[in-house]
Amino acid sequence: MTFRATVLTLYPEMFPGALGMSLAGRALEEGTWSLEAVQIRDFASDRHRTVDDTPAGGGAGMVMRADILAKAIDHAAPQGDARPKLLMSPRGRPLTQARVRELADGPGAVILCGRFEGVDQRVIEARALEEVSIGDYILSGGEPAALVLLDAVVRLLPGVMGNEASGAEESFEGGLLEHPHYTRPQEFEGRGIPEILTSGNHARVAEWRREEARRLTRERRPDLLEAGTALAASKKGRAGP
Ligand code: SAH
Repeated sequence: MTFRATVLTLYPEMFPGALGMSLAGRALEEGTWSLEAVQIRDFASDRHRTVDDTPAGGGAGMVMRADILAKAIDHAAPQGDARPKLLMSPRGRPLTQARVRELADGPGAVILCGRFEGVDQRVIEARALEEVSIGDYILSGGEPAALVLLDAVVRLLPGVMGNEASGAEESFEGGLLEHPHYTRPQEFEGRGIPEILTSGNHARVAEWRREEARRLTRERRPDLLEAGTALAASKKGRAGP
């Protein structure tokens, strides 16, 4: 089944952009997923195709109008469309690999890209938009965030990654960051490759990688370990630590 992505944007030329290349681009050509970029301005009603207006209550910047966005959303996702409707937003729930996997297992996504100060709150509520953030920083628009989200989703679609196994071992999939990688040359500027990796002992290699993954996660992202413990504890029916 084709994963259907519809992006609502003021800059449809930004799509597929980077997603037209490499693995995602090939999958797009092969029909593993489809991408439609819809120009929000096409749903404006005035001569100037205005989509924004000044904020109620005053202040700087402009706000995208609820009525025009609702028309664009209803056109892209008519009644009965089962796809989740996402709004890229710094106020959203931070995107995780778990949510990416859920999206990849579903029928697709309708993605609204904000611009200016953001969108009128009423359309978020009226169309039950799920706000998704790609991190604690502010972009000038939702388009790069949509590209990031789609890149993460598309690589998980069946058949997109050549070596399916490499997906399962990556950072976050096991709740840990990934171990370090090495390849030829055997020596680089005086630095060798850890001996275990060239020992041919697969069990010891696997153990070294697990230990390195744990060490890196402890050092860089202790929050992931805490989340992992809480998850394991709740699975056993106990409260978290
Ligand atoms: N005034 C807003 C920021 C608007 S940025 C605030 O302070 O919260 C303009 C648009 O860029 C947003 O509507 C959103 O669609 C997108 N955007 C900016 N940062 C983002 C992020 N971290 N994740 C996802 N989308 C983001």
